[in-house]
Amino acid sequence: MTDKVRVRFAPSPTGPMHVGGLRTAIFNWLFARHHGGTFILRIEDTDQSRYVPGAVDLIYNAFDWIGMDIDESPRHGGDFGPYVQSERLPLYHEWARWLVEHDKAYYDYTTSEELEIINDQRKRQGLPPGYDRRGRNLTESERIRLKAEGRPEVVRFKMPLYGETVVTDLMRGEVRFNNTTLQDLVLLKSDGYPTYHLANIVDDHFMNITHILRANEWLASAPIHAQLYEAFGWDMPEIAHLPVLLNPNGEGKLSKRSVGFDASGKRVPVLVQEYQELGYLPEATMNFLTNIGWTFGDGIEMFEVEDAIKRFDIKAVNPSNSAYPIDKLNWLNGKYIREKLDEADLAKRLRPILEAAGFVVDEQKLVGIVPAIKSRIERLTDAIDMAGFIFRSDFTPASAEAHIEKQMTAENTLKALELSLALLEELDPFEPSQLEAPMRQLAKDRGFKAGQLFGTLRTSVSAQQVAPPLFDTMVVIGKDTTLARIRLSIEIMKQFIN
Ligand code: GLU
Repeated sequence: MTDKVRVRFAPSPTGPMHVGGLRTAIFNWLFARHHGGTFILRIEDTDQSRYVPGAVDLIYNAFDWIGMDIDESPRHGGDFGPYVQSERLPLYHEWARWLVEHDKAYYDYTTSEELEIINDQRKRQGLPPGYDRRGRNLTESERIRLKAEGRPEVVRFKMPLYGETVVTDLMRGEVRFNNTTLQDLVLLKSDGYPTYHLANIVDDHFMNITHILRANEWLASAPIHAQLYEAFGWDMPEIAHLPVLLNPNGEGKLSKRSVGFDASGKRVPVLVQEYQELGYLPEATMNFLTNIGWTFGDGIEMFEVEDAIKRFDIKAVNPSNSAYPIDKLNWLNGKYIREKLDEADLAKRLRPILEAAGFVVDEQKLVGIVPAIKSRIERLTDAIDMAGFIFRSDFTPASAEAHIEKQMTAENTLKALELSLALLEELDPFEPSQLEAPMRQLAKDRGFKAGQLFGTLRTSVSAQQVAPPLFDTMVVIGKDTTLARIRLSIEIMKQFIN
């Protein structure tokens, strides 16, 4: 490649950043970094009616979170700015005018009411919605008359009426479009804003974009863009249309509106901020999204970003859309937590998650419980249900029934609690490794199964069925609290029996 690679991610700030958008950004970024090129963030805000304040912040947050750096953008600056389309309006006007002057576009004055009538007629004729090109051959005096009527003025592209447009896609090869299916699209709207098509082409050209990697929902726009480049006499960047993410069941595009579920029945998160809030690790999410549509290879599921940069090859991307394998992310995230995070790092990441869930997080307890839960959570937020109780100052004991394990009676549950209390009072030091053997011995001597005894004690000290390993829990909440909770359970069992 002779030209230095320059790619752009060009989101429209119409809402929170979506995981599909993030995946498009990742592929662009990997491609840029692989070729030692430049990665540009451009904000395409030409549809002012759909502009959502704050959306741009969320785009930057997503990049920060996932750890992708940006070379040029509204906030980073660069030699090709401004990088926000609403700040580039004179440029679009200039080039729309150029097209009109060179007979490649025309002013049109059709009102929206008239367009509706045209569409009704087309519908009756069994034609797809569209426009009848009535403005294409206006004489100058007709044009002046229509304008003088105060009608809205737009600029439309003169699409070729015959022939074929061939687009060469980096992944798909040649894709052919019959020009009769293409419309005379609006390039400049009556509000003075360009449409996506005009602004996108002008910007890609003047920002020296060499490669366009975008979602395949834009494939239908590719012939329009090819025709625009042709009309301007500009070289079209190389282009690839990326597969999009489908719902986990393979049906429909994963979108803000669609709802998919993972294997455990949880709703599939769609917004990048949800991934953050649910406690997916950015490094696992990056790894996971990179490996959809493109494959790192050698059956490797867990890899460093640097290695993905080295291997990334746009031509190796599979163009077919794929069902979103969210269960793989759950698994991968757990694997990252187990294998890649040391305990101090995990504690640091759990703190904000637990705090957001309303807990006052005691550092000593946090550090104490991390080793016990590290291998048991997939998302960081799993720690809330599993170990949140450790940080709670109030404690609501479980019911008597909840204390009674399978094949146990209320009476021998009470007995088990009393014997445990007596033994635990004596044990010193109060450390996980010192507690287990004597407690197992106790179970054996008294004819309980260890599982029954430990189950009752887990219910007693945590008041929940799923908790970190029993002895770790006891040590983290401390000897006094452990004994107090067992005494409370003894009272509950006594009252139940009487
Ligand atoms: N603004 C378009 C979007 O939001 C960009 C499409 C393209 O990359 O050309 O997807």
